[in-house]
Amino acid sequence: MVADSDEIKAIREAIEAQAGTEDIAALPIPASTRAITVRADEQEMFEGLPSHEKDPRKSIHLDEVAVPELGPNEALIAVMASSINFNTVWTSIFEPLPTFAFLKRRGKMSELHARHDLPYHIMGSDAAAVVLRVGPGVTKWKPGDRVLVHCNDVDLQGPEGHNDSMLDAQQGIWGFETNFGGLSDISLVKANQLMPKPEHLSWEEAASGPLVSSTAYRMLVGKNGANMKQGDTVLVWGASGGLGGYAVQYVKNGGGIPVGVVSSEKRAGLVQAMGCERVINRSELPPFWSDEQTQDQRAWRALGKAIRSHTGGEDPDIVYEHPGRSSFGASVFVAKRGGTIVTCASTTGYKHEFDNRYLWMNLKRIIGSHFANYREAWEANRLTRLGMIHPIMSRSFPLEQTGEAAYQVHKNMHEGKIGVRVLAQEAGQGILDKETREKHIDEITLFQRLT
Ligand code: NAP
Repeated sequence: MVADSDEIKAIREAIEAQAGTEDIAALPIPASTRAITVRADEQEMFEGLPSHEKDPRKSIHLDEVAVPELGPNEALIAVMASSINFNTVWTSIFEPLPTFAFLKRRGKMSELHARHDLPYHIMGSDAAAVVLRVGPGVTKWKPGDRVLVHCNDVDLQGPEGHNDSMLDAQQGIWGFETNFGGLSDISLVKANQLMPKPEHLSWEEAASGPLVSSTAYRMLVGKNGANMKQGDTVLVWGASGGLGGYAVQYVKNGGGIPVGVVSSEKRAGLVQAMGCERVINRSELPPFWSDEQTQDQRAWRALGKAIRSHTGGEDPDIVYEHPGRSSFGASVFVAKRGGTIVTCASTTGYKHEFDNRYLWMNLKRIIGSHFANYREAWEANRLTRLGMIHPIMSRSFPLEQTGEAAYQVHKNMHEGKIGVRVLAQEAGQGILDKETREKHIDEITLFQRLT
């Protein structure tokens, strides 16, 4: 058990008292602090085991680690809350490869980047936090600012990303491809990852959104993704999960028609409570794979029939894909002629197989998508701040129980998102805008109440 230092206690108390810039800037930064890590000398611990037997509770540690040195255009932040994303699961089971390879590569980029190459990896790609210090060159943010962090870490020194920062050759995901992620009392970020915190949300509700919400935004809204328009039918896999729960909201906000896929009646109820009337329980469909090598096209047709039963016979304009190998063949098959399959992941396996005749003869398109550029992340957060997109957090765990939280996500036992309270000692703290909260209280707390 790693205890709080006096410096950390003072930082927490100052934040709880809403201390101003000067007071926060005057607080000493401790030399070391608590952080959730995986360790390089354990990266072979699950060798030979199938994925489902790799247990994050064994690889995830709560350690005392050094606070990194602050560089130009960076900020040190006191993390009040973070969340579990699937990338934390990937890091903790060392799949598809140990993330130490990313840290080593990043470490070679410059003297400053060398800080990331350590024998431990501090994970976490979301944070609701308070700025403690800013490095040279930071103009927009100051100590005491209450912020949300998006996870697009990019320097933009080459031309590739100048129109779309996700295209930068050195782009990485903070807390996955970089060190010093959000599952730590004090974290290091680039100043351009910072966004204003939605003040009608608690620390953990706010922190549960940025990664999945921004990803869903890019996949569906605008020319970088599927460019959804009013009236489009969108098939949403995992509609009560992290990505899916936000997709349902973006589809509805944009005038589209979501058709959610889930694996239980309980989840169907959750998705319907979000206002997605059309739900398919995939456990009632025949399996798409009859064995590890063979897909059953009759099962694809059964999915298509189930979709049409909800849409008056129409096929989906857009299929929102992330399960990967298990569902991708069916996704390509069921998309409308001229429709779009937009994919950002391969949870069940990254070697997809589909029947290309259905793609080319029916003029369908597959779009690869990954997180979100600065602007998309900012727009997604703006919609949350306006009370148009809501958290789907079902519960939160204290930092000490991150291993259990990641285990639940790995095993598909959770609903929506799981928050992690880092410096916030209790759930429900950090809310300043009570009026907006009251207005949207039913939506904000939906997953907390119904799970
Ligand atoms: P999540 O909260 O675990 O949700 C995933 C959902 O997928 C589950 O709720 C589950 O719903 C469904 N699912 C699981 N196995 C399935 C299967 N065999 N067939 C169909 N559906 C299945 O995870 P998430 O946060 O949404 O992330 C999903 C994936 O996207 C992960 O691989 C993650 O790494 C990736 N991701 C990528 C990006 C990016 O920027 N590229 C960003 C975020 C996430 P049911 O069991 O109810 O059907």
